[in-house]
Amino acid sequence: MQLSTPVKFVKRVGERVAANLAERGVETIEDLLYHLPFRYEDRLHPKPIHELHPGEMASVIGEVRGTVLLRTRSSPIFEMTVGQGLQSIKCMWFHGTYLRDKFKPGQMVALYGKLEGSRSGNAVGAIPGSTRFKMIQPTFEILPDAGATGEDAEFTMLEMGRIVPVYESLGGKTPWGAKLTSRWLQRVMWTVFRDLMEAGASADETLPHALRERLALPGRMSSLEALHFPPAGTPMTELMSARTPAHRRLIFEEFWYLELGLELKRRRLRERAGISFVADEKVRAALKQVLPFKPTAAQKRVLGEIVADMRAPRPMRRLLQGDVGSGKTIVALQAALVAIENGYQAAMMAPTEILATQHYLSARKLLADVVSPRTGKPYRVTLLTGSLDERSKREARARIFRGEADLAIGTHALVEEKVDFDNLGLVIVDEQHRFGVQQRFKLMRKPGATEPDVLVMTATPIPRTLALTVYGDLEASVIDELPPGRTPIVTRRMPEERAEEVWAFVRKQVEAGRQAYIVYPVIEGSKEDQPELDFAQDSAEADEPGGPSFAPSAKGGVSGKARPLSPAVAKRKSKDKPKLRSATEMFDELRTGALVGLKLGLLHGRMSADDKEVTMARFKRGEIDVLVATTVIEVGVDVPNATVMVIEHAERFGLAQMHQLRGRVGRGAARSYCVLLTGSSVSPDAEQRLDAMVRTQNGFELAELDLQQRGPGEFFGTRQAGLPDLRVANLARDRELLELAKVEAARFVEGPDANMDRAEIDAVWTRLKHQWQRRYGLVEA
Ligand code: ADP
Ligand code: MG
Repeated sequence: MQLSTPVKFVKRVGERVAANLAERGVETIEDLLYHLPFRYEDRLHPKPIHELHPGEMASVIGEVRGTVLLRTRSSPIFEMTVGQGLQSIKCMWFHGTYLRDKFKPGQMVALYGKLEGSRSGNAVGAIPGSTRFKMIQPTFEILPDAGATGEDAEFTMLEMGRIVPVYESLGGKTPWGAKLTSRWLQRVMWTVFRDLMEAGASADETLPHALRERLALPGRMSSLEALHFPPAGTPMTELMSARTPAHRRLIFEEFWYLELGLELKRRRLRERAGISFVADEKVRAALKQVLPFKPTAAQKRVLGEIVADMRAPRPMRRLLQGDVGSGKTIVALQAALVAIENGYQAAMMAPTEILATQHYLSARKLLADVVSPRTGKPYRVTLLTGSLDERSKREARARIFRGEADLAIGTHALVEEKVDFDNLGLVIVDEQHRFGVQQRFKLMRKPGATEPDVLVMTATPIPRTLALTVYGDLEASVIDELPPGRTPIVTRRMPEERAEEVWAFVRKQVEAGRQAYIVYPVIEGSKEDQPELDFAQDSAEADEPGGPSFAPSAKGGVSGKARPLSPAVAKRKSKDKPKLRSATEMFDELRTGALVGLKLGLLHGRMSADDKEVTMARFKRGEIDVLVATTVIEVGVDVPNATVMVIEHAERFGLAQMHQLRGRVGRGAARSYCVLLTGSSVSPDAEQRLDAMVRTQNGFELAELDLQQRGPGEFFGTRQAGLPDLRVANLARDRELLELAKVEAARFVEGPDANMDRAEIDAVWTRLKHQWQRRYGLVEA
């Protein structure tokens, strides 16, 4: 038996279970061993009940004292008392009929769950007054008793008197229909280790010896063993936070191979032929003449980095990060001009029609009165989006094909509509995370022609760790400074009952000549209709949040007293299930109610592209005072005169969304406001998000919290974002090991240490080749 042996040969597994496991990506014994416990229970030194505290997650070992099935009106509740000496804990399971015959008094059980204080002294079978805690729906394991026989006896030591691993189920069932429980996995792991040991299969080291030595990382097999069978004395805190030497070693290994692959990709890219753009005085003069303002130091620096890349004889792959409003657009346009002044075409892709159109309009405006020093003619900008009529599309394509468009701006229509460029030199992709990674590559792949340079722009402040992996093949530039004259946005959280005050405030701002956005999570009132909402389902049974109130600001002047409930609020109150207010309904309600007399506009994703464009244009021209919208305005929309952003049901929105939405205001010189209206049920996570929004405007800080709350996969939306499939490491938790792995990978590729064994080095490359696609799920680029 070896690590590469298929799992079906493991005792207790067999064909059927193996087929199940394969669905979860577990095919070999090695895969199985990497299914690590997600928590541990200390059954060597179990805590006595009197050392526990309410509110903590605890594992408790005790003896069953008594059970009872209580028939209540709503659901049968199964109650059980578990005791240690004179102390006891009451456990409750709702719908617990199935547990009725499971326990017998005197049995030892291990419980895991959240402790709550309990006052009832008369739990079943308990010594009166001895019950200090209760656990609702704890997970449990009935422990083998001293007199166990047969197989159970053999495994008693796995479950008692040691730190016991708890595994997440791998789904599926055994051939006799039992679930593949944590206990099943414990036993299988035990068998596997025993068999491996017998076969002497410990030599499967994957990290070169010299590297392990230098970084003081334990061996691979002993690390795996230490995590499945933690030796007595392993600190529980280290185990639970994945910080034991064994964890560190396996996490490092996973990151190191990932970074090796990325490093190779980067190197290969550097060897490919690209365009060497010229950036001489003439080109620089062309860039200067389009600047409508003095660029910030950050903008200058970043443009410098981009231009240096463009001059180099290899294809540029650069990520331009900058918080909302940091001024990425002008930098991108300048990069486009470098390409154009070199006689090439540039393409700019935006994720939505609104944005593409907006970029098109601002590009036209900036370039309208200037003449290319190279040709002596004005720059030619073409728009191509999916919603154009067929003739316009055909014409746009023809202009692009014949080289009569210097700059083509559009949505992914630029990729999809079979556009052939005459001479494409630069591709700019705006707000990249909304595009599939594949699309980003399609544009560049033009058979025959030299590869264009690629600049990816994103306003999602991507934590460095993620950028290192997701964009591991890109160099990064960061605009870390806002244009001058911006005042911080005043952010307040308000309970929805006080919405009337907010509408009064909006009215004041409009009277002062400003404009406002009011954003809703849904278009219409229907259930299915929840566009791009990160936390559509995330409502807690939490009580009234009672958050900080919208203190009347000196300038804004929200008037003091609460008003009667608006009809919408009253309506909602009367129902059991809170219904989400929608853009469409509230547009009508506000227009005829609280905001009567103001010019309201409605914008959402289901309107036709034409209607959207018209509405946006009217808002831009100031013909609309208040834009009632969904998250379609989330990215990029730029109307400097808008100073108020109201987000209703703010607890439903993700941090990235709220941050983007807030970024729509504060774009001019006037003070801007963001009001987060929250409903009555706000989950603890949502509380954190709202607090963070009020506390900071730093996009990177918010992104960190977002990453922690949602995990890397959710953070980016989907797997297609190109996130690697990690089985031990966690991008949110293990950043410092990732950094280390990156440095070490680069060092290894550069030239392995002199004292590394040739065979070891070869094994590393073979392994990488084998693992790259399968383990990390990354495609060869
Ligand atoms: P984003 O990075 O979010 O795409 P934009 O490029 O849309 O930001 O810029 C936001 C706003 O700031 C725009 O109105 C733009 O004209 C303005 N702006 C950008 N750079 C500067 C600057 N250096 N000085 C003054 N205003 C600027
Ligand atoms: Mg932008």
